Amino acid sequence: MSAPLEKPALICLKCNVQLELRKAFFTYLGFNFNTELPRCPVCGQMYLSEELVKGKVTEVEMSLEDK
Ligand SMILES: [Zn+2]
Repeated sequence: MSAPLEKPALICLKCNVQLELRKAFFTYLGFNFNTELPRCPVCGQMYLSEELVKGKVTEVEMSLEDK
């Protein structure tokens, strides 16, 4: 098996093209994140999965508690 594990291919349903990972900056629940998000190169639609957001929020909360 030669399929890479780290990047599952996401397809834009509108444009039927593979999404590209792009650096993105966003704010969620008052936290700022700078991360790579899958984005459609044609229509610019960003895909923000809830799991990704929750994971990032947990990371930030943990780093805050460490201080
Ligand atoms: Zn698209």
